[in-house]
Amino acid sequence: MSRRILFLNHVGILGGAEYCLIDMAVAFRENCQVLLFSDGPLRERLEAQGVIVNILPAPDSLLGIRTSSGMSSLKSIPALIQLSRQIATIAQDFDVIHTNSQKAFVIAALSKLWGSPPVLWHLRDIMTSRHFSPINRKVAISLANRFISKVLIVSQGAADQFIALGGKPSLVRVIYDGIPPDPFIKVTPEQITAVRTELGIGDAPLLGAFSRLSPWKGQHILVEALYQLPEEVHALIVGDALFGESDYVKTFKAAIADPKIAHRVHWLGFRTDVPVLMSACDIVVHTSTEPEPCARVGVEGQLAEKPVIAANAGGMPEIVEDYKTGRLYAPGDVGALATALQEMLSDTEALSLMAKQGKAHALSRFSLANCIGDIESVIEEVVTA
Ligand code: UDP
Repeated sequence: MSRRILFLNHVGILGGAEYCLIDMAVAFRENCQVLLFSDGPLRERLEAQGVIVNILPAPDSLLGIRTSSGMSSLKSIPALIQLSRQIATIAQDFDVIHTNSQKAFVIAALSKLWGSPPVLWHLRDIMTSRHFSPINRKVAISLANRFISKVLIVSQGAADQFIALGGKPSLVRVIYDGIPPDPFIKVTPEQITAVRTELGIGDAPLLGAFSRLSPWKGQHILVEALYQLPEEVHALIVGDALFGESDYVKTFKAAIADPKIAHRVHWLGFRTDVPVLMSACDIVVHTSTEPEPCARVGVEGQLAEKPVIAANAGGMPEIVEDYKTGRLYAPGDVGALATALQEMLSDTEALSLMAKQGKAHALSRFSLANCIGDIESVIEEVVTA
């Protein structure tokens, strides 16, 4: 496809949305540029793979606004207008703007006022009241309905929420993210043994949680469940705070320092070798206490051929089918998580069947080729409309 795409993302850190952006931009690298509103490791990753990246620094008054902020968001209006005018100018060289984050979406939507090409919003959040203040939900839905050509949404659960809030159904395209399986397939038994040796756990059952540290990502749920599981069960916790959640990190560190369980919890901080670490686990555990749109970690666990246990909300049931590819439990329910984990660990045959079925599911539903093909056809549709 030769359509020129301008990808916009407001942060330069590496979260799930940014890993998805890397895969898309690499697929379209002959005809795209990525514009970030702040610098970070994302730029290096993209450039290393031949993607052109530019940084247009946004003022802190804009970057500091959260989707959960209320009327204080209004303070960012002058900066928003200025940036959206700049985007409109830059976008003259492109056929379409793809917005990969909330702030990028708002800025690009407004840039339509100054003649930008069609704008796509890749909605990677569930617009619940926990994450979006009432005013920001209203503003986002109005901007989408007025200025956005198509809203690409990462799960049916997130799409239902967008429509329930008043988003036009005709704008919606559910497109599951594509996650390349190669890094998981390439993991060797020697790498797995090395991880287990480093952790000093031999063949002990290992439960793994792989997310940035944040209260609603809920790593504490797994730590609490550990008290109810046999002494030989260990937990591997991978990830660090990405958005300055220092209070949570403090509480989390205190919780895992309890001498009753300290020897069973292995917190490694942020790592870049998730495929190897996941492969060393027996079960991948998703612990979010709030609905998630479609957490990559669930799919990655399946690609690593592990059964996944996930909090049953948002788009997670579109990844995990209860008893077929893993287990689902009520978000935040420590007792239910511990019981389900206990059941899973007691039936290794069922575990391995779930793992195989999960891998097949991830390979078909979360195929990168399908995801890119779907995005291409949406782009063609909006550019020729
Ligand atoms: N991840 C990582 N290193 C870590 C923890 C997580 O590379 O230490 C990756 C993880 O493998 C996944 C992404 O970060 O690809 C998180 O994406 P997800 O959609 O699960 O959550 P998000 O952070 O986007 O809410």
